[in-house]
Amino acid sequence: MNIESYIDQLLKFNPNYDLTNIIKAYKISEEAHKGQFRKSGERYFIHPVQVSLILAELELDEVSIIAGLLHDVIEDTEYTYSDIEKMFDKSTADIVDGVTKLGQISFDSKEEQQVENLRKMFLAMAKDIRVILIKLADRLHNMRTLKFMTEEKKKEKAEETLEIYAPIAHRLGISKIKWELEDLSLLYIDPVKYYELIARVNKKRAERELLIKNVIDKIDIELKETNIPCEINGRPKHFYSIYRKMTYQNKHFDEIFDLTAIRVIVDSVKDCYGVLGVVHTLWKPIPGRFKDYIAMPKPNMYQSLHTTVIGDNGEPFEIQIRTQDMHKIAEFGIAAHWKYKENKSTDDIGDRLTWIRQMMEWDRDIENPSEFMESLRHDVFNSQVYVFTPNGEVVELPDGATPVDFAYKIHSAVGNKCVGSKIDGRIVPLNFKLKNGNIVEIMTSKSSNGPSRDWLNFVKSTQAKSKIKQFFKKERRSENIENGKEILEREIKKQGLVPKKVLVNDYLNPLLRRLSCNTIEDLYAAVGYGGISTAQVVPKLKERYAELHKKEIEELKEVVITHEDRKKPNKQGVRVKGVDDMLIRFAKCCNPVPGDDIIGFITRGRGVTVHRLDCTNFEKTQDAKERYIEVEWINDESSTYSSEIKIIANDRRGLISEITAVVSEQNLIVKGLNAKVNDDGMATVSISLEISDIKQLNKLIHKMKILPDVINVKRVKS
Ligand code: MN
Repeated sequence: MNIESYIDQLLKFNPNYDLTNIIKAYKISEEAHKGQFRKSGERYFIHPVQVSLILAELELDEVSIIAGLLHDVIEDTEYTYSDIEKMFDKSTADIVDGVTKLGQISFDSKEEQQVENLRKMFLAMAKDIRVILIKLADRLHNMRTLKFMTEEKKKEKAEETLEIYAPIAHRLGISKIKWELEDLSLLYIDPVKYYELIARVNKKRAERELLIKNVIDKIDIELKETNIPCEINGRPKHFYSIYRKMTYQNKHFDEIFDLTAIRVIVDSVKDCYGVLGVVHTLWKPIPGRFKDYIAMPKPNMYQSLHTTVIGDNGEPFEIQIRTQDMHKIAEFGIAAHWKYKENKSTDDIGDRLTWIRQMMEWDRDIENPSEFMESLRHDVFNSQVYVFTPNGEVVELPDGATPVDFAYKIHSAVGNKCVGSKIDGRIVPLNFKLKNGNIVEIMTSKSSNGPSRDWLNFVKSTQAKSKIKQFFKKERRSENIENGKEILEREIKKQGLVPKKVLVNDYLNPLLRRLSCNTIEDLYAAVGYGGISTAQVVPKLKERYAELHKKEIEELKEVVITHEDRKKPNKQGVRVKGVDDMLIRFAKCCNPVPGDDIIGFITRGRGVTVHRLDCTNFEKTQDAKERYIEVEWINDESSTYSSEIKIIANDRRGLISEITAVVSEQNLIVKGLNAKVNDDGMATVSISLEISDIKQLNKLIHKMKILPDVINVKRVKS
C-alpha cells in the first residue's frame, strides 16, 4: 500500500484527521522497518500500517494513529523513546513505550508471574487506555495473519488471545474486536469445529433471511403507524458464541435457536421502549428473557433492550433494541466513548472505567498472587449482579455476591457492623446469594464485635474479602501471632522436620523483606490472618535448613541418583522412518532431546547416530550426505535423555542449593554437577541431567533464569 491509498482509507474512517504528523509517522515507520519482513514474506511495515487502520476504524484520535504506526519501532528498530518524544511529543512516546512494554509480557508462565503481568497491564490501562487499544489492534492484526506461523505458535497465540485479550476487549466493550479475536482463536484452536460451524450456519442462511424479512415487514408496518423511524437488521451471531453454547451448555447445534440476533436501531431512548411495546404485541415474549440494559448498563457501558419472543414458526428469536449512540458503544465500547468526549483527558474515561481504578485500589490490599488472579476472574471477567439500595440506587456486584459483599461495597464501616440483612423486606441469612433486582437492606448494630471469620468462606467480592482480612489484621494481632505460629509449626511437622530446629530467627529474618514484614511477629500475624500462606514461608525455611545440613542431604541425593538410574534406563525414543529395530545412538556432541529437529547419520557398523540438525559437529561434506537418514521422535513419556545446561551467576551463599532445589522441584534427575568460581566472583555451574523432552528443558532454563543473581542460563550445545 502506498501513502496515497493509506491516506484515502484513513480519511474514509474519519475525514477530519489532521494529516501532518500522521504522514510524518508513516514515513519514519516505513524507513525504520526497511529490510524487515514478516513470516508471510511481506514487508514488516505492512503490519504497523494495518494496525493504525484498525485504530482508525475505531475512530481514535491522531495520537493513536501515529502511535499505531510507530508501535513496533522502539522494540524492533534503532529508534528510542527520546527520539519519538523529540519528533512528536511525550504522550506519543509514552504510548509507544507502553505498547512495547506490554509486548514483552509473556502470559504462559506460572500463576505468580502471570499475576504480575496482568498487574502491569492494568497499570498501563490506568495510565493511558490507548496503550491497550493499540495492543488490541496489534493482536487483532497478528491473529488475522497467524496462518504463517508454526502449528505450535498458532495454538499458543490463539489460547493467549482467548484467555487475555478477548476478555479485555470485552471488558472495554469493544465487541467488534472481541468477536473477531474469538472467532480467529477458534479457527486455530479447533479448526474442525470452526469449519463445521461455518457450514452449518450457512446452511441455515435461507431460513434466517426469511425470518429477518418476516420480522422486518411486520415491525415496519406497525412502526409506520406509531411514527417511529428505525433501522432493522439481522446478523448471524459470531461462531465462537455458538461454539461456547454448544460446549458449555452441552447443546446440539439444532438446539440453539437464537443463531440470529435481530437488531432494531432507533433515534431516542423513548423510541426503544416504543419498539419494545410493538414487538411484544406482535409476538409473545418468553418470561425472564427481557433485559433492560438501558436502565442498567453493563459494566462495559453496553446499553440495549433485549427480549426473546416466540416467532410465527414457533421458534424463539432474540431482538435487541438500541439507539444509534448505544449501537456505536456496543461495537466500539470505550473507543466510542473516548471519541464522543470533547475533553479527551484520561480522567474522564477513568470515571467510566471504575473497575480499573478499583482493581488498582484492591491490589494494594491483596498480598497473595493467586488471590489477585481469583479476584480478577471474579470482579473483572465474570458476570455481575445488579441490586438496589433501599433508596433505589443500583449497586453492581460480582455473580454470587451476598449481603455482606453489598455491605462492604456501601462502606467498610457498614460491613464491619453488619449483623443481618433483608432482601425485598424479608430477613435472609448473610450468605444469601443475591439476584438481579433484589432490594438489599443491611441491619447494623453499634455493639457488633466486627465481622466473622466465616464470612471469608462465602463473600465473593475482593473488596469484602480484603476489608474483612484487614479488620482481623488490625484488631486481632496477638491472636493472629499465636495462630500463625501454630499453622507454621503444623506445616513444618508435616514436611518431616522438627519445628524447633527450623522456626529460628536465623532462618526467618532473611525472609522478612521479601514478604514485606518488619518483624518476625508481623510474619506470624500475617500467616495467622491468612495474608501470607505457608507455601510462601516453609519451602524457604526448608531450603535454609538444607543448606546448613548439606552433607546429610547430599548423601541422601547420591543414593537417589543411583537408584533412579537403574530404574530408568535410556530407551531409544527415536525411530528411523520406515525401518524398525535399527540400532540408534544419540550423538554425545549435541545430546538431542525430544522436540529438537534431528537427523540420523548412518555410521559404519554402529547403526544410526542421531544429531541435532543445528549440531556443528557432524560431517556435512557432499560425500557424507548420502549417509543421512530421516529420523523422528516417538512419543514415549518414559524415555529420558541426557542434556547439559550451564548457569552463569554472581556467586553467593546458597546459590548451589537454590539451583539444585529448582532441578528437584521439576522432578528432574541430576547426573552430574560441576561448579567453579572465577576471581571476579562469577560462578559457572554445569549440570547434566536426564530429561524427557525439550519443553521440560526450556521450563527448567526459564526457572533458573529467574533465580536471584543468575545472569545467564544456556543449554550446552556441542
Ligand atoms: Mn506489532
